[in-house]
Amino acid sequence: MKRILLSLLISAALAGCTQVRNPATGELQYTTLSQQDELRLGAQEHPKVLAEFGDAYEGHRAAAYVTEVGRRLVAVSELPEQQFTFTLLNSPVVNAFALPGGYVYVTRGLLALAADEAELAGVIAHEIGHVTGRHTAQRHTQSAAAQGTGMLGVLLGGLFAGEAGARAAAQLAQAAAPAWVMSYSREQEFEADELGIRYLTRAGYDPRAMASFLGRLQGQAQLEARRTGRSAEAEQNIYASHPRTLDRVARAAEAAAAQAGGPGQRNRAAYLAAVDGMRYGGDPAHGLVIGRSFVQPAMGFRFDAPEGFTLFNSPSRVIGRSADGAVMVFDADQRQTADVASYLQRQWPGQGATRAVWPGRVDGHDAATGLAVGRIGNQVRQVLVGAIDAGEDRVWRFQFVTQQLDQRSAGAYQAAVESFRFLSPAEAARYPGQMIRVHEVRPGERLETLMPGASPDLLADVRLINGLPLEGGQPEAGRTIKLIVPATGGTPVAEAGGGTG
Ligand SMILES: [Zn+2]
Repeated sequence: MKRILLSLLISAALAGCTQVRNPATGELQYTTLSQQDELRLGAQEHPKVLAEFGDAYEGHRAAAYVTEVGRRLVAVSELPEQQFTFTLLNSPVVNAFALPGGYVYVTRGLLALAADEAELAGVIAHEIGHVTGRHTAQRHTQSAAAQGTGMLGVLLGGLFAGEAGARAAAQLAQAAAPAWVMSYSREQEFEADELGIRYLTRAGYDPRAMASFLGRLQGQAQLEARRTGRSAEAEQNIYASHPRTLDRVARAAEAAAAQAGGPGQRNRAAYLAAVDGMRYGGDPAHGLVIGRSFVQPAMGFRFDAPEGFTLFNSPSRVIGRSADGAVMVFDADQRQTADVASYLQRQWPGQGATRAVWPGRVDGHDAATGLAVGRIGNQVRQVLVGAIDAGEDRVWRFQFVTQQLDQRSAGAYQAAVESFRFLSPAEAARYPGQMIRVHEVRPGERLETLMPGASPDLLADVRLINGLPLEGGQPEAGRTIKLIVPATGGTPVAEAGGGTG
C-alpha cells in the first residue's frame, strides 16, 4: 500500500528509533513508531482505505459477523484491551490487510471465498498478528507492476502533468491491481501466521483452517491467472505474498491441532447464515466488470474493452491491462471547450500533445478520437484517446497506450471507444448485481440447473467458493452450498442484525 508506506517512511524519518518490548513475541525490538503514533496513523489512513475500496459494506449481518469473529480473537491475543476496528469492505477483490493501530480489513470477496468461520477467523487472526506483532510495512519494489505503472504514468499525467501525476499513477497501479499486497517482510508474514495459529487455537477454532484457506487462495490465484492469461506467479494477489508459506503453515497448524486436544470449531452453519443474502461481485452502484465489458447501470452506460484486456474498477476510473502490457484508462471529465473535438484538441491531454483528431458520433452522441504523444522515461509513446459527449458539458473519455501502436491495435482501441452505449432505465434494470444464496442440495441437482443461464465464468466462481473442482465439479446431495444468484430488491438487509457490541 504505497500511500500508507509513504506515511510510515515519513514518520520513521521524523521519529527516530526507540527500543520496545514486542507485546506478542516478548522480544525487544527497534521500532520507529510509538503505539500512539500507530493509532494516529491508522486513524488517518482509514478513510483513504474506505475511499479506495468503495466503502464499508453495511446493512447486512455479514459486517457485524466479521466484527464478532475479530473480537473473539482479540480477546485471546496479547492485546485484549487494545481497540480494534474491523471493517468488511464493499469490494469483490479477495483481500485482507491491517493498518497499524488495530484497523483490520476483510473484503466481501474474501468472505465469500472462505469455507467456514474458522477459515475467516484464520485470515483475521493473521492480520491481528501483524498488529500485535507491531509489524511496520517495509518498502520493496514490485517489479512485475513496473512496466504497467510506467504506462499508467503516461495515461494519468506522468507526461502531461509532471512528476506529481506519475506518483499518483504509481499509487493507482497498486489500487487497481486485483488485490492489494501489503509489503511486509517474509519473516513478518511467518510471524503473523504463527501468531494467527496461536489465536485460532486459543479461541477454540480448528487451527488447520489457516492452511485450508491458503489452499482456497491458491485455487483463486489459478482461476485468475487462467482468465488474464498470465501465470499465477505474475498475478498481484493476496496469494502472491504467501506462496511458500503454505507448507510451513500446514505443519504448524497440524502441530497446534495435535496439542489442542480436540478438533476445534469450524462453525460452518454460522458462517453460511452470515453470508446468505450478501452481495457477490461488483456493486452496480460502482459499475460492474462482466468479462471484458464494463456496465454502469447507475450512470446508464456500458462499453467493451478490446480482446485480451482485463478490467479493474476503482471509485474514480476503470483501468484495463492486457497480457502483452497494453493499458487503458476510462474516466469522466468536465468539458470547457465548445465541443468534443475541441476538447481533445485543446483541453485534454493538453499542451499540444494531441497530433490528430477525428470527430464522429457514438451511439447518437458527439464523439471524437485522436492520437496524442506521451513519454515514458525517454521513450515516446503514442496514445489513442477518445471522448464522448455525456451531456451537461461532461465527457466520458478513453486512453490507450501500448508498446507499439500499429494499425491493428489502433483499430481495436477505436472499436472499444465505439462500443460505448447509453443504457435506458429498462436496460440498466437488467443489471441488479449478484448475491449469495445458501442452498441445501437435493439428490440429482446440478449447479447448471440451480443457476440457470449462468456463464462458464460464473460457474467457475461458484465452484471456487464451494471448494469444488473448477472443471465440472458438482456438489453432493445433502451439502449446503453457496449459490450466486441475481440480487433481489436492492441490498438485502438482515432480519435482526447482530449489532457490533
Ligand atoms: Zn500478512
